[in-house]
Amino acid sequence: MSQLPQRDKAVIWHPFTQMQTAPLPVPIVRGEGSVLHTADGRAILDMISSWWVNLHGHAHPHIASRISDQLHTLEHVIFAGFTHEPAVQLAERLLPILPDNQRRVFYSDNGSTAVEVALKMAFQYWHNLGQPRRKVIAFEDAYHGDTFGAMAVGGRSTFTTPFAPFLFDVTFLPTPIPGREAEVLELAKAAFTDDVAAFIVEPLVQGSGGMNMYAPAVLDQLFSMARAKGALLIADEVMTGFGRTGKLFASHYLTEKPDLMCLSKGLTGGTMALGVTTCTQAIYDAFLSTDRMKTLFHGHSFTANPLACTAGLASLDLLLTPDRMADIERIAAQHALFADELRSTPRVENVRQLGTLLAFDLVTDGQTSYFNTIRDVAYNFLLERDVLMRPLGNVLYLMPPYCTTNAQLDQAYGAVRALLGTL
Ligand SMILES: *Cc1c(COP(=O)(O)O)cnc(C)c1O
Repeated sequence: MSQLPQRDKAVIWHPFTQMQTAPLPVPIVRGEGSVLHTADGRAILDMISSWWVNLHGHAHPHIASRISDQLHTLEHVIFAGFTHEPAVQLAERLLPILPDNQRRVFYSDNGSTAVEVALKMAFQYWHNLGQPRRKVIAFEDAYHGDTFGAMAVGGRSTFTTPFAPFLFDVTFLPTPIPGREAEVLELAKAAFTDDVAAFIVEPLVQGSGGMNMYAPAVLDQLFSMARAKGALLIADEVMTGFGRTGKLFASHYLTEKPDLMCLSKGLTGGTMALGVTTCTQAIYDAFLSTDRMKTLFHGHSFTANPLACTAGLASLDLLLTPDRMADIERIAAQHALFADELRSTPRVENVRQLGTLLAFDLVTDGQTSYFNTIRDVAYNFLLERDVLMRPLGNVLYLMPPYCTTNAQLDQAYGAVRALLGTL
């Protein structure tokens, strides 16, 4: 009987993985807190929250027991024509913590679908009003997911090349990172015409695009310019939501409020697949009619899955406590100290931090792409030291679960220090 990695290789195709050259995957048998335990007894620190989803640590007993209870009560039910307590309760608990113009919750089952739904709501909003608008504005380097609509509003890259002919046209503005604000605002004047249906952004931090951070002030300005032309504002908080940036949502740093919001990843504390799109009363109202053609014809088999909604409730139980908020501040403070150290470290530049997210660039000789070998060198070096980080090209970042202890953070910082020492 062969080992798990060999059995995996015989039958499985992994995401974002070149199956010909990728090393065999690491079998994980158990998770606890910020640690992933491997089959051969290693304890790996999960410093990327397992692709940005985990908030409270792995196999959290509170989330596990609530899901288990729910599983014995109602595992799933069709969500058209029927409803259930976990879906209603989660919506009732989410809306009050979002920007206060958000009025309705639409469920799906991942971040990409949350974005698809927001786009469809935006396009059909204009359609239903009888004033169709087709233009969409997004940022270069944006990432909104891997389905077609989500890919279309994401920055064009080597990842999207094979699909480029199938992606609808989007007007891209450069991301207004520090130093580029004035240029972007100038370009925005021409871009925001009165036929813009929607302006979609990852507020304050672009995740997959390289942990690019930009200031609330410039986003507020862009939002007001877009709003002046009637465009709907979509905040994709799939990654930034639920405390990542130091506030519950990145949108809370803004004065302008989005019309639509996309949530997933941390929504269930990283335990189950769930997506949410929220919208304002005006958007919801544009779909109310005796005319059936104004209906939002969209849904997924697992829409509002009761187990996933219960996981969302359990995660909120944990998140919305003074202790958890203190953890977020503690991690942010530890990151800030390490950031200061990094700023005076050779071969490191562009050190940036927002809340529990710390990122910096490794200075390489010229070539900086996702496929840069420095990425593989760094990934392997850190993993050999039992620290899981997943550099985006030459961009290294830490995005730990909120339960990560200071000692664990120090272990991760130490591994990064050692890596930098070898460069
Ligand atoms: C991860 C991500 C998505 C896509 O979510 P999936 O659940 O992976 O489909 C969309 N937007 C942002 C900002 C993300 O980080």
